[in-house]
Formats: sequence, structure tokens, C-alpha cells
Amino acid sequence: MLIGTVTEIKPQEFRVGLTPHAVAEAVAHGHEVLVQAGAGVGAGFSDEDYAAAGARLAPDAATVWAEAEMVVKVKEPQAGERAQLREGQLLFTYLHLAPDAPQTNDLLKSGATCIAYETVTALGGGLPLLAPMSEVAGRLAPQVGSWALQKANGGRGVLMGGVPGVLPAKVVVIGGGVVGTQAAKVAAGMGADVTVLDRSLPRLRYLDDVFGGQFKTAYASAAETKAAIVAADMVVGAVLIPGAAAPKLVSRADLADMRPGAVLVDVAIDQGGCFETSKATTHQDPIYEVDGIVHYCVANMPGAVARTSTLALGNATMPFVIALANKGWRQACIDDAHLRAGLNVHAGQPTYAAVGVAQGIET
Ligand code: NAD
Repeated sequence: MLIGTVTEIKPQEFRVGLTPHAVAEAVAHGHEVLVQAGAGVGAGFSDEDYAAAGARLAPDAATVWAEAEMVVKVKEPQAGERAQLREGQLLFTYLHLAPDAPQTNDLLKSGATCIAYETVTALGGGLPLLAPMSEVAGRLAPQVGSWALQKANGGRGVLMGGVPGVLPAKVVVIGGGVVGTQAAKVAAGMGADVTVLDRSLPRLRYLDDVFGGQFKTAYASAAETKAAIVAADMVVGAVLIPGAAAPKLVSRADLADMRPGAVLVDVAIDQGGCFETSKATTHQDPIYEVDGIVHYCVANMPGAVARTSTLALGNATMPFVIALANKGWRQACIDDAHLRAGLNVHAGQPTYAAVGVAQGIET
């Protein structure tokens, strides 16, 4: 199969759909790979890296869209990209179609087959093509939060690990899933005093079994959550209720009871945020203050570490890319129900129930 990838054109997106490692793997399986010149630069991959892996370089995106049988990307195709999608072409990328009627209509009109990373499933549950980005955002949260805790950034001026004779920062992580676990591990590794709150007792049991000693766990009742946040130097919001907006777990009134200069890192901002006072920010202007509390609410945290994120995403997508190229999308989806769960659009038909429900169209 002729597989292609293009430079991402969504603002502030530096990741790339195929790493040179994925190119080499595809070439080893007998496929041809076309990479837009410069596509990997934002993630630290040069054209020479791709050429060395066996890719052919295309002078522009139009060449890739015109020639490739499968286009592998990161973000949903933008309007100009959708106009170049054609009947029978295969698109493998994040789509997030449910709230996006214009994109859905364009993909339906294109006649292409579109498989969305975010709805591919895994044995034993979970979303394997979302998990790597949650891992990145989780590990990044204490890193950015500790920066925000510094005095010059409006924070309390507290060092995560303290020093001999001075207590460490108190970090509270609400939601002990993928993001929360990684956030807690890194915060604990920085020497902070960490507590993870969750509403799932099985999850708390797992965390206690595996990480007991590194951090504490508590059931996320309203009372326990309030007691934890008023004593915290940093609160990481990492909850998820699948398919729903994030619940608001810290109200504006709660801020007055918190330590002045404490930091809220709302990783759940991409689902609306779990603090009442959260509003999405950007990497250019990541923090703001409400009632003396510093807020960090960047909706695309993995973009800050585009190289790590590209490699992590590439590790997760590569087996699916190879299966799609080896077998064709139809046989690959027949053989793997988890990949089939990613099929969102085919030949003018929406094929993912939740997208149909969200947009009132039959699937
Ligand atoms: P996950 O499903 O692995 O974990 C969510 C956890 O929240 C679960 O353990 C669940 O039991 C818990 N939870 C749900 N309601 C709760 C409540 N009321 N109180 C306490 N705990 C509660 O999800 P995840 O992959 O860790 O993702 C967490 C959030 O981070 C999601 O909103 C996701 O979209 C977001 N995210 C954001 C970025 C970013 O760049 N900002 C990047 C990746 C993920």
C-alpha cells in the first residue's frame, strides 16, 4: 500500500502522524511511504531521517493527498485537507466527530473510509490510542504545576520536594486513571507529599497495591475532596466520565478556603474542566489567576513535548497502521474488533453510533 503523511496544519500542532520508525517498519513490510517534506520538523525528525528510513519525500501536501491510499495524521483534517480527501481513500487519525458537524459532513461527502484513533478499543477496556497522550499530560502536570508554584508565576513559592528541614509541597490529584496515576508518580518522584482521590474503589485498591508508600489514596467524597484541596499547594484535575462533560469538583467559593498562591492544573479542561473557574488556555499564555489561585488549563498539553508525544503516539498507532496496510481496511477490521470500533465513516455512511446520536443521523 502507498501510505502517506503530511505536515499538521492546525495551529500549534507540532506532532506528525508517522515517525521514521513507523516508516521503516512499513517499508520492511513491503509498503511504500510518502512523507511531505518538513512534516517531522516540529517533532525533531528531519527529511534525512525519513529518507534514511526508506520514505519518498513529497514536495507538498497536495501530492500526498493525491497519491496516498492511506493518509496517517494526528489531528482531524482541516477544511482544506478534507477537500482533498477522495473516494476510497483511507484516513487514520484523531477525528472527534461527535461535536463537529461540518467535519462529519465533509468526511461523508468525500466517500473516504475514516478510522478515528479515539474510538479504537483494547482488550480489557481502555482506549489505546488515547492512553499515550493521557500518560504524557499526566507526567507533564506536576512539571508545569511546579513551575506555576514559583513566586514569579503567582504561585506560593513552594518547592515540590522541600529541602532537609522543610516540608515538601502537598499535591492532590483528583481522578486516579491514566492521567492521575502518571501525575501522582511524577509528583511523588519530585519529593512531594501526594494524595490521589477517586470515586472508584477498585481503582483505589489497585493504586494502593501498586503504589502504596509512594502516595496516599482517599475516596473522593465531597467532604474528603474539600478537606484535601484546602490543604493543598497543587491540585491536579484528572477526572473523566466517558462521554460526558467533566464534573465541577472545585467551586469558585472553594478558592477562598484554599492556600493563597496554590495552583490548580486542570488536565480535564478538554472535557470542559473539573474546576468551576477553569477556562482553556494556550501554551503561549498558559496560566491565569482567580481569587489568588493560579490556574493552568492548557487543552493540548502533549503539544508542549511534541517529540515525546509523537513517539508515544507512533508506538501505539504503528501496529494498526501495519495491519491496515497489510490487509486493507476491510480485512483488518474483520480480523480485529478493536480496530473496527475505530471505524467512524465509510463510503458516505456514518458508522459510529455515538456520532450518529450526537448529530441526529442514522448510522
Ligand atoms: P481515565 O478514565 O483513565 O481516568 C479518569 C478517572 O477519573 C477514573 O479513575 C474515574 O474513576 C475518575 N473519576 C470520575 N469521576 C470522578 C469524581 N467525581 N471524583 C474523583 N474521580 C473521578 O481518564 P484519563 O485518560 O486519565 O483522562 C483524564 C482527563 O484528562 C480526561 O478528561 C482527558 O480527556 C483529559 N486529558 C487532557 C489532556 C490535555 O492535554 N489537557 C491530555 C490527555 C487527557
